[in-house]
Amino acid sequence: MITVGFAQNEKTNNESMPLSAPVFLGGTKAITLTPVVGTPRREYAERFIPGEERLEDGELRVTVLGSGNPWVTRAQASASILVEVGNAERDILVFDLGSGSLANYASLKLSVNKLNKVFLTHLHADHMGDLLTLVGSYAKVGRADGPVYLWGPSGTEPRLGTQHFAQAIGEALAWDTAASSGPINPESMKIVASEFDFRKTHVVYEKNGVNVTAFPVVHSLSGSVGYRLDFSGLSFVFSGDTLASWPLVKASKGGVDLLIHECFPPAAALAAASGLSIERATIALNAAHTSPKAAGKVFSLVKPRMAGLYHTLLSVEVIPMIDSELRTVYDGPVVQTQDLTVFNITKEAVVARQAKVSDQLPPTPGEPSMAYKPIQPTPPAWWADERIPVD
Ligand SMILES: [Zn+2]
Ligand SMILES: [Zn+2]
Repeated sequence: MITVGFAQNEKTNNESMPLSAPVFLGGTKAITLTPVVGTPRREYAERFIPGEERLEDGELRVTVLGSGNPWVTRAQASASILVEVGNAERDILVFDLGSGSLANYASLKLSVNKLNKVFLTHLHADHMGDLLTLVGSYAKVGRADGPVYLWGPSGTEPRLGTQHFAQAIGEALAWDTAASSGPINPESMKIVASEFDFRKTHVVYEKNGVNVTAFPVVHSLSGSVGYRLDFSGLSFVFSGDTLASWPLVKASKGGVDLLIHECFPPAAALAAASGLSIERATIALNAAHTSPKAAGKVFSLVKPRMAGLYHTLLSVEVIPMIDSELRTVYDGPVVQTQDLTVFNITKEAVVARQAKVSDQLPPTPGEPSMAYKPIQPTPPAWWADERIPVD
């Protein structure tokens, strides 16, 4: 399909060229005019094919699992960003886990058993909706070794904080946990939450050469944060949801290789795309989110090597609208991310591509680090009378 305003797939990086079409219109490239910043030390295939490209030592690979927002579509999962770290452990960290993001994770052929570190920016459901799936279902499909470790901010009172949220999710999974313990390791259905003060900029995670720093952001209600990840001289900053705000700029000091910042289209465009009233769309934008011009302003203050936008219900109208408004204040490299936009970050370069994946790949269990002997559960006594004999 060819759409007015977008380039055909085979056309590439050229300043006069319009942006690539989104994947849901047949595009194959990251939506940007600058997919490569710097000079890569190796050649990257045109598309990222899961399982065919190993992460190099010292490299960071950042993949957008969910580029969207509360309007979950088949094209866009709710908010989630995956970071694969090129340390000896090949650690995997995920920032937010919105609905649909785990289906995208499965498509990457990465081990389910390694996905046990989740950093939440805030407790809006479009940033944590797949946590039930990770704790409950993913324990059945390979997350075998132990709990999900969850980091997240405090609230202005205990019931608004991450600790309370994690306990409540655990309670909500009472039936699933009781029903599944035995056949699967009950330890793998637990959540271990680390709640930290939302008001401070401070290191909340430090292991295997990876540091994660949380900083406050301005979004909806006190108790929202963004994160900065540092590894081997490379850095990635994720805004979560926010209005343009200073703590992110300050936390980005010293240079940032990739900054993924949220961005909403103008209220009229959001209303047209989503069916919201113009009043609701205006309130959502002004009270909680970043306009394209404001995102451009943040980028001009931070000057990241590569910038990315997310949290937008993408459409053929919205993409060029965001780009042209942002370009009035910023002319550096910017990617309008979509699901499965992949960034490879090295000292030499930052490269943005789209992954090419199968739609029907089940999650890859991975190797358990400890043996667990499944136990056959004892059926309830009343089943004996109610089951229909087959033979
Ligand atoms: Zn959100
Ligand atoms: Zn939010």
